[in-house]
Amino acid sequence: MPESCCCFGCFNVRQKGSGLSFHKFPLQNPELVNKWLIKISRENFSPSQHHVVCSDHFIKDDYIRGIHPSEDPTSRHDILHQAIPSVFPAHPINKQVILQKRRAPPKLRIKSEKEENPIPI
Ligand SMILES: [Zn+2]
Repeated sequence: MPESCCCFGCFNVRQKGSGLSFHKFPLQNPELVNKWLIKISRENFSPSQHHVVCSDHFIKDDYIRGIHPSEDPTSRHDILHQAIPSVFPAHPINKQVILQKRRAPPKLRIKSEKEENPIPI
């Protein structure tokens, strides 16, 4: 069974040369696991040793070597023990930003104003 990222809205699957790495939950540290679950928007989810989070949700500072897998797809990448996923392009908060894109305001009808005010001179 292919390993796929368990983050909300992420469908990345482990593939050779994809520039992604997959990281297991820090199950030895339940407090840290909770922080991960809050971050990935899956608070009622209990991760097992088979669940993974992909490198799309980590920044390069989360990696032991300070290099993000997308910059060096052929090497092995391990995250720091205290690393917490922090990048979530699919989360609702970010969707809201896109929805806020403004539509062009409707054209004003200035012309009719004069017509509706017939002032006799
Ligand atoms: Zn992912």
